[in-house]
Amino acid sequence: MGLISEVTPISYNDDLPERADVVVIGGGVIGVSSALCLAEAGLTVALFEKGRVAGEQSGRNWGWIRQLGRDDAEMPIMMEANRLWQGMAGRIGADVGFRTEGIIYLAESEAAYAAHEDLLDTANRHQLMVERLSRADVDGLIQGRPGFWAGGLRCPGDGRAEPWIAVPMMARALKDRGASLHENCAVRALDISAGRVSGVVTERGLVKADAVLIAGGAWTSLFLQHHGILFPQLSVRATVARTARAPNVYGGGAADSALAFRRREDGGYTVAFTDHFDFFLGRSAFRSAFYFAKSAWASRRSIALRPAAPAGYPDAWFTQRRWGEDDISPFERMRVLHPTPTPGATERIRKRMSERLPALADTPIAESWAGMIDILPDTVPTMDSVPGFDRLWLASGFSGHGFGIGPAAGRIMADLIQGRTVEHDLTRFRFDRFTDGSSIQLGPLI
Ligand SMILES: Cc1cc2nc3c(=O)[nH]c(=O)nc-3n(C[C@H](O)[C@H](O)[C@H](O)COP(=O)(O)OP(=O)(O)OC[C@H]3O[C@@H](n4cnc5c(N)ncnc54)[C@H](O)[C@@H]3O)c2cc1C
Repeated sequence: MGLISEVTPISYNDDLPERADVVVIGGGVIGVSSALCLAEAGLTVALFEKGRVAGEQSGRNWGWIRQLGRDDAEMPIMMEANRLWQGMAGRIGADVGFRTEGIIYLAESEAAYAAHEDLLDTANRHQLMVERLSRADVDGLIQGRPGFWAGGLRCPGDGRAEPWIAVPMMARALKDRGASLHENCAVRALDISAGRVSGVVTERGLVKADAVLIAGGAWTSLFLQHHGILFPQLSVRATVARTARAPNVYGGGAADSALAFRRREDGGYTVAFTDHFDFFLGRSAFRSAFYFAKSAWASRRSIALRPAAPAGYPDAWFTQRRWGEDDISPFERMRVLHPTPTPGATERIRKRMSERLPALADTPIAESWAGMIDILPDTVPTMDSVPGFDRLWLASGFSGHGFGIGPAAGRIMADLIQGRTVEHDLTRFRFDRFTDGSSIQLGPLI
């Protein structure tokens, strides 16, 4: 497969430019999509990635491109993202593995089926085509244990793609459009002159820019803390596995309250828990506890508390919060955040898979990995400028569903940076919603 880690060779090591119209921090789907739109609009763009393009969340996720189960305010953006994914291969001249095979929210019981009503209401409000499935419908669509699921909701227009192919291919298209790309090159800090952001200080030197976009995934909060800016973002560990080639039991993605599975282009399945995330306590966790009270309560059954993150993680106890521009920063100390899977998870995932999908009972698990999902207190992202810092933009906190929406988030950020009108209502995604006295409106949980 292609899980990208620190041992993956560097693909981009361009000469450091003196300046760019826009500097983008982070080579995940959000940074790359934003940079691609900016480069297509004719701007000079320099993208900095401390490790490897798609090395973190954007290359470790399930590959679901789903509209179903989105927050009301995200839905129109996600519907646009779906259209952008459909045109991606033509746009960048490379197959990203996008297939419209439909995603199913499965329910093991009538009660769980009823709990999906909210999702259906949201879909209906946005004229998103969703099918209600009976027990027999599910049995007809998924070659699983007959009668195991009481029903489900299926969005036939939802899709899947291969993250570790898609994002690197988009980065290649970005390079073809003239952007400079810099892997293994961390941005240590913002360069600020006369109260304006005038560029960035990278580990290789200063780059001036008219605008800077932070798309640093799980590291965004730490980066901002260094400049005294509060961004209440935390991370949870999620474990994923892939099977060897397997019989085709369903061509899209599906999940119930315990297991998610998704057909892969290599003929296997990506499989994962839907009810287990590890949360490592750290200094930011305590500082942001107030903001996360609602989401912590809502997800209390699926979160396992761990006393400390491994050394070097963004919220590990001893990770530096302040550093000088000439010092090695925490971003260089951990090039690729590469968590070990939750102990025992692979075997438990396999067991759940065999219970539900007997046709896969003899299919071996070929690999397992984990990723740190960055989350915000209301489980929707921030896409905005950073108040008090002229020409500083931020797109982060996609809370477990940023891969699918990435191309549209990128288009939005590119429009904002160029001062163009954005057709979507972005009020829900404003930066200061956690500090302006608004109450936290929890979106659908990850
Ligand atoms: C296990 C798992 C399953 C998921 N499943 C899905 C799914 O099926 N569908 C979906 O839509 N979403 C899913 N997600 C969520 C999705 O992957 C993320 O929301 C999305 O990838 C976030 O993209 P990003 O660009 O914001 O962050 P990332 O992909 O994490 O990229 C941020 C990058 O910024 C770099 N960086 C940080 N700080 C600096 C710095 N100072 N200098 C230079 N570079 C820096 C990092 O190295 C990193 O590569 C899943 C996530 C995980 C972990």
